[in-house]
Amino acid sequence: MSATGTWPVDFETAPWHPADHFIDGAWVPSVGTARIEVTNPATGEVWGSVPAASDEDLDAAMAAARRAFDAGPWPRMRPSERAEVLRRFADEVESRAAALSLTNTRENGSPVAETGGAAANAAGILRYFAGLAPHLEREDVRPFPNGVGESVVRRDPLGVCALIAPWNFPINLVVIKLAPALLAGNCVVIKPASPTPLSIRHIVEAARAAGIPAGVVNLITGSGRTGDAMVRHPAVDKVAFTGSTEVGRKIAAACGELLRPVTLELGGKSAAILLDDVDLDAFARVFVRSCLRNTGQTCYISTRILAPSSRYDEIVDTITRVVSEAPQGDPLDPGTVFGPVAHRGQYESVLDHLASARAEGARFTTGGEPLPGPGLFIAPTVLADVTPEMRVAREEIFGPVVTIQPYGHVDEAIEIANSTPFGLGGIVFSADEERAFGVAERVDSGSVGVNFFASNHAAPFGGRHDSGLGVEYGVEGLEQYVAFKSIHRRA
Ligand code: NAP
Ligand code: MG
Repeated sequence: MSATGTWPVDFETAPWHPADHFIDGAWVPSVGTARIEVTNPATGEVWGSVPAASDEDLDAAMAAARRAFDAGPWPRMRPSERAEVLRRFADEVESRAAALSLTNTRENGSPVAETGGAAANAAGILRYFAGLAPHLEREDVRPFPNGVGESVVRRDPLGVCALIAPWNFPINLVVIKLAPALLAGNCVVIKPASPTPLSIRHIVEAARAAGIPAGVVNLITGSGRTGDAMVRHPAVDKVAFTGSTEVGRKIAAACGELLRPVTLELGGKSAAILLDDVDLDAFARVFVRSCLRNTGQTCYISTRILAPSSRYDEIVDTITRVVSEAPQGDPLDPGTVFGPVAHRGQYESVLDHLASARAEGARFTTGGEPLPGPGLFIAPTVLADVTPEMRVAREEIFGPVVTIQPYGHVDEAIEIANSTPFGLGGIVFSADEERAFGVAERVDSGSVGVNFFASNHAAPFGGRHDSGLGVEYGVEGLEQYVAFKSIHRRA
C-alpha cells in the first residue's frame, strides 16, 4: 500500500481508518483479509486500500444496526430530539470540509471546485431534514368519511436500512439517504462504491462526534457481492440504492421477492431542449454545470442537446467553444473545470462509446481522444450531427461527452427527448420562460429545469421508467423511510 505523494497526513492514523469497518460505534478491524485498492485517477497512483468485507463483517454490521433499532435509544427519541443531533452532525460535517474535499478529489478525480462544496451541501441536507421533525410529530388525525370514527396516522421508522452508493458523488449520494433515514428513526449500514471508500469515513466520524448512538450508523466496504448480500440480508428492512440501471434492476428483483421496500436512483439520458429563441450567451454561462457537471459523471445532466435546425450551426459553434475553452487538468487546481474520468472501467466505457460514435458517423467538433499520461483524462468531446439510431444517442455515456441533434418543430424535440427508456432530468432553454415552462411540462421525467438545473433539497427528485423507483429530497423523500400506521378509534 502506498501513501506517498504530497498528501499532508499520516495515512495509517488518518480519519479514514483504512484497515477498518465502522461497526457499533467503533472502528474495528476486518475479519477478512481481502482488500480494495484506492487509485487517484488523475495520477494513476494507488494511494490507499480498505477491507473487502467478509460475510462475518457484514453480519456484525447488520447485528449492530439491528440491536440499535430493536433496543437502542435512537428510534425511541422524539423526532425533534433526533433533529437536534442532526444539526450537530451538520456542524461536524462542515468542520471537516477541507478533508472531505481533498479525500473525495483524490479518490474519484472530481475537481476541488466541485468537492469544495460537498460538506456545505451535506450539512444543508442534514439541516433541511432536521427541519422536517414537525412533519413526523404533528397530530395527523383523519375522520372516517362515513363518520364512524377517526384514525390517528403515525409515521414509524422502518428499521434497518441498507444504503448503497455509487462513486460519482460519494458524499452527497449517501447523505441524501442517511439524513431522512436518521430523522425518521432508522438505523443504517452504508456501503460506498469500491473506487470511493474513503471520503465517506469523514461523514461517519462526524456522525460519531455529533453523538449519534452506537450501532445507528455503520459502514462497511466491499464489492458488488457485498452490496448484493446486504440487499438480501435478513436483518434489513429497506434498501436505498443509487447506481446503474442494470444493478438497480437486480436489486428491485431481489426486493420484490423479499417484499422489501426499496428506492432506486438510476441512470439517465436527459435532453436539453433549446427553443428557437434561446439566448446563447445565457446558455453558454450555465452549459457546463447543466450538461457536463463533474466531468459528465452526474446522473441528471442533460447530455443530449436538441437544437432547432434554424439555429443549428450557431449552437454547435457555441457549445464547441465553451467546451474547448474550459480548463481540464489537475483536479486539485481550483481553476480546473474538467478532471479525469473517475476509474479505469468507466474510462474504457467512455472510449468505447467514442469509438462507436466514430464508426457510426458522428461529427467530432472538439475532443474525442484520451490525453497522454498515467491519468484517466479524456478530452471533453462534442459530437454533432448525431442521429437517433446511434449508440451515443441512446445509452448513458457518463463521461465528458455531449451529443447534438437537430430538430424541426418543437413537437419533434419533445418526442426525441421522451424517446429513451429513461426519465430523470432535462432542461428547456428559451428567452421566454413561460413558453419554456410549457415545454417542460411535456417532458416525461422526474425533474426538468427552465434555463438551469439544480436539485432543490425541498422538492422530490426521482426518475421515471428505467431511471428509478421512489424519490429522494423533500417531505416525499422523508416518507420513503417511514412505515405508516393508522390507529382507528371511535371519535
Ligand atoms: P453501479 O455499478 O450500479 O454501483 C453502484 C453501487 O452498487 C456500488 O456501491 C456497487 O459496488 C454496488 N453494487 C454493484 N453490484 C451490486 C449488486 N449486484 N447488488 C448490490 N450492490 C451492487 O453504479 P456505478 O457504476 O457505481 O455508478 C454509475 C451509475 O450510477 C450511472 O448509471 C449513473 O447514472 C447512476 N447514478 C444515478 C444517480 C441518481 O440519483 N439517479 C446518481 C448518481 C449516479 P462496487 O462499486 O463495489 O461495484
Ligand atoms: Mg459499477
